[in-house]
Amino acid sequence: MTPTHTFGTFFLPGPTDVREEVMAAMMQPMIAHRGSAFEQLFERLQRGLRPVFKTERPVYISSSSATGMMEAAIRCAPQGRVLSLVNGAFSERFAHIASMCARDVDRYDVGWGQIHTIPQLEERLSMRKYAVITVVHSETSTGALNDVRAISDCAHRHGVVCLIDSVSGAGGAELRFDEWKLDYVLTGSQKAFALPPGISFGVASSDFIDRASGSSARGVYFDLVELDAYARRNQTPSTPALPLFYALEVQLSAIANEGIEARWSRHKSMAARTQDWIAKISDETGKRLANIAPLGSQSPTVSTIRLPADLPSETFTPAVAKKGIVVGNGYGKLKSSTFRIGHMGDHTLDTLDRCLTACASVLRS
Ligand SMILES: *Cc1c(COP(=O)(O)O)cnc(C)c1O
Repeated sequence: MTPTHTFGTFFLPGPTDVREEVMAAMMQPMIAHRGSAFEQLFERLQRGLRPVFKTERPVYISSSSATGMMEAAIRCAPQGRVLSLVNGAFSERFAHIASMCARDVDRYDVGWGQIHTIPQLEERLSMRKYAVITVVHSETSTGALNDVRAISDCAHRHGVVCLIDSVSGAGGAELRFDEWKLDYVLTGSQKAFALPPGISFGVASSDFIDRASGSSARGVYFDLVELDAYARRNQTPSTPALPLFYALEVQLSAIANEGIEARWSRHKSMAARTQDWIAKISDETGKRLANIAPLGSQSPTVSTIRLPADLPSETFTPAVAKKGIVVGNGYGKLKSSTFRIGHMGDHTLDTLDRCLTACASVLRS
C-alpha cells in the first residue's frame, strides 16, 4: 500500500478498501502449489471460508474475477431453458453469460432498484418449464437486495436449480448455504471480503455437482466438477494466485475474530446510517436525494443514491474526491443520475461517517 493511503477513505462498491495488514500478507515468498505447504494453507482457508458461507461443503477458490464463477455456474448447470431474473446491470450480465454459453434464456425484468417478488416468480415459473434460474443477491448497480432464500425455495418448488450471484452480498449480507438448501453461490474477493481483486469463490451443493458430472461442454478452466475434485484434496486444478491466497488467510482470521453474524450486523448498521443521512441531508439542503431501492429491500453493503437533477455524479464524485473520499459513480444507465457508497468489507460506522461528512459538505456548497 502506498504510504499516502489511509484506510477508510475509499468507498467504491468494488474494489473496496483493503487494510494494510492484508496487503502486506501478499509479500510472502512463493511456494509449490503441488506440495504439502500449499495443501495445509488450502485446508486452513477452507476452515475459514466455511463459516462465511455457513456451509460444510468445500468452498472453491478460483483465480479469476467473479465473472468467471458466473460462467462456471452456467456451464455446469443442468441442461435446459434458463430464466434470468434481471433488476440491474449485474443480473443483466448473468443473462448475457447464459446466452453467450448458447443457452435458451428468458429474461424476467423488473425496474432497476426493484427486487423480484415470490408470487410473480411463482406465476412465471408455472407458465413455462425452466431448468435453471439466475439471480443476483445484492445488485451492486442499484443497491437492491433480493430475498435469495425465498427465491431459491420458490425455484425448488418448481424443480428448478437456482444460481446465485452474491458478489456484493457474501461476507456482508446474511447468507446460509446449508440451512437455506442453496444450489450454487458465487462471490468475488474485492467486495464484502475486502481483499484485492483477482480471486473468487463458489459453493455448490453435492446434488449440483453430481448432476454436473453427467453433462458435457463444461469447459476446462471453469469446470466446477474439477474444482470440487481438487478442493477435496486441498488443491486447485491450475496454478493459484498465491499472493491473494496469503491475503485471504489473514482476512479470514479477522473475519473469524469478528464473527460472521457480527459482520452482517455491522453492514446492516452502515446501511441504516446511510439511509438516515439521506433523509437528514435532504431536509437540511432542500435537495431531494433518495436511495433508489425501497426501504425493506436495501442492500446492507451498497447504497445507490439519486442525485438532484442539476448535480450529475460526474460533478459530484470528483468534488467529494477533493475532500479525500472516493465514492462511486452510478453504474450503467444510472451513471450520471446516482452515486454509490460501498459501505462494505472492513468499513465501520466511523469510516462511513467520514464519507458522509465529505458528501454532505459538497451538497451544502
Ligand atoms: C462486481 C460484481 C460482479 C463482477 O465481478 P468481477 O469480479 O468484476 O468479475 C458480478 N456481480 C455482482 C453483483 C458484482 O457486484
